[in-house]
Order: sequence, then structure tokens, then C-alpha cells
Amino acid sequence: MISVVVPAFNEEDAIHVLHQRLTQSAKAWGEDYEVILVDDGSHDGTLEKCRQIAASDPRFRVLSFSRNFGHQAAVSAGLRYASGDVVAVIDADLQDPPEELIRFIRKCREGFDVVYAIRTKRKENIFKRTSYFLYYRILKHLSALDIPLDAGDFCVMGRAALDALNSLPERNRFVRGLRTYVGYRQVGLSYERHSRQAGEPKYTFSKLVRLGADGIVNFSYKPLHLVMYFGLVIGFLTILAGVGVAVLYLTDTTLLGYNPRQVRGWTSLILALLFFSGLQLISLGIIGEYIGRVFEEVKARPAFIIRTKLNFERERPEAHFAAEGPAE
Ligand code: UDP
Ligand code: MG
Repeated sequence: MISVVVPAFNEEDAIHVLHQRLTQSAKAWGEDYEVILVDDGSHDGTLEKCRQIAASDPRFRVLSFSRNFGHQAAVSAGLRYASGDVVAVIDADLQDPPEELIRFIRKCREGFDVVYAIRTKRKENIFKRTSYFLYYRILKHLSALDIPLDAGDFCVMGRAALDALNSLPERNRFVRGLRTYVGYRQVGLSYERHSRQAGEPKYTFSKLVRLGADGIVNFSYKPLHLVMYFGLVIGFLTILAGVGVAVLYLTDTTLLGYNPRQVRGWTSLILALLFFSGLQLISLGIIGEYIGRVFEEVKARPAFIIRTKLNFERERPEAHFAAEGPAE
């Protein structure tokens, strides 16, 4: 069986089209399937639309969160509840066309455990495209893992990789990174990313920055190393400068108009002071990013809380990062 996980946050205008196009595409799959719509605490009519679909089509199951927990939590919830031996993840806004899934499913059936999608063309503005382009390259450079370039959460996975992914206990889940982490046989297929079916992007700028930071901090210690190297280099340069100034003082020499015996240089002093205070704050901030995440993990709060489940008869096994209320 194939499971399709679809996170949706305020996507009321896309849900019905999604239902139609998925149902249409699924005819080509030639096997049984289920669709898990994850309503990430929407405050428009998304849940209502999902209810309508679930009532008429038992293949469409619904998980609804108690509030907005974010896209990565929604994907994680869907993956945990998926019962297929092959599982796909697509966006509710139809930017990842369901018609493409057949190619990915075939590749997976050929024996690949993870078939991830590489975006060739994006129909977004130049600022967003450039940011994504740079971000994925920086992430690849910083991360110890070989996280593929330009690959989002759109993918098809086999059961083995999915079970491994679901068993990872961390709560702050950068799914595309964890997916690389679990390993197995992975392959990328290119596709053209379409524009949105309806509405505005649900990732606000600050949510995107968060996601970006999660990707780097959760998968790399390099920012911490950089801070240390910076400190070492600056410390070393300061010693050299100290020796140089002492020599100039003792020999009463003027170098480039600078003579340490004549008290001047307020500007350079204050600039150096400000520069290094800034650097220290940045370093603290970087360390803080890590400590904050340690704090989050130690508190062990679930990554999401499910308020409503529709069309789920069976229970899924517990995962450490999940919580839920009673079934409806
Ligand atoms: N989404 C979500 N929770 C959020 C933000 C977004 O479940 O807090 C869903 C959204 O409904 C969509 C997918 O995540 O199905 C991708 O979001 P969006 O289209 O805003 O991102 P983009 O495609 O611009 O990267
Ligand atoms: Mg989108």
C-alpha cells in the first residue's frame, strides 16, 4: 500500500483540488493507497474541507493538531501514522504535483529506499530563489552529512527508511536532514516545482529563517568551531600587535603616523572595542542556539499534539516525540 502524507496549514482553497488530482493520479499507481491530511492547526476552513472529504472517501484520513506546530511537525506526524510500505510526502498547495508521484514510486519499487525530489525550476521571486540557492550550498558545506542540494521534503520512502526515521527521538525535526541521516539507498529525481494552487505561502519569513537555522544547527557543529577559530586567530593577532606596540614604545618609533608615546587613537580604540563586543555577542548567540535546542530536547515536550483523528481505525505505535488526544 502507498501512503501519501500532506501537511496543510490554512489551505482551504487547495484541499478539494488536491483530493481530485490525487485521486486521479492514484489510478496509475495500480495499488491500494491512503492519504493522510495533516491539518497543522489551521484557522480557516481547512479542517472542515478535510472532514467533508474524509466523510465521503475512507482513503483520506485526517490528523488535526491542537494548534499550529509547524510544517516539519506536520510531516513528522503524517509519517508516523502512515501504514503503507511506500510513503510519499507532498505539499497541500500542489507545488509538488501529484502526477509526478508515479515516477518516484516506480523508482522506490525498483529497490531504492529514499527517492527525494530535486527542484530544477522554481516559480518564485528572484530574492527567494537566490536565498534558497545560497542556503542549500551553505548547509551542504557546513553539515557533516551529505544533504542533497535543492531537495525539499517532497519524497517517496520505503518502509525500512521510514521506520528508521520514525524511531529517531528528537523533537526538533528537520525532516530532510533526518531523511539523509538514516541512510539506506537514496536517489534524487528532478522535477519542476509549480506555483501555488491558491493562497499565499504559509511559511512566513521568520518561520523560514527558523527552518534554515534548524537545518544548520541540528546538523553541524561547525558554527561552534568557527567561533573558536575566530577567537584563536584574534588572540594570536592581539599578541603580535602587543609586541609590536611595545617595540614602538621602547624605541620611540613612529610607524604609519602612529607613535604609542603620543596619546591618541580614540577612534581606533572605540572601533576595536565595538567590533569585538559585536563579535562576542554573535558568539554568545551561536552558543545560545545550541543551548536553546538542548533545553528544548531536555524538556521532552512532544513535537505536536493531535486533537482530532478521522478515518483511523488502528493505533500507531508510540513515538517518543508524539502526543495525541483520544480518537474521534
Ligand atoms: N505548512 C504547514 N504548517 C506551517 C506552514 C506551512 O503545515 O506552519 C504547510 C503548507 O500548508 C504547505 C507546506 O507546508 O502545504 C509548504 O508551505 P508553503 O507553501 O508556505 O512553503 P513553500 O512552498 O513556499 O516553501
Ligand atoms: Mg508551497
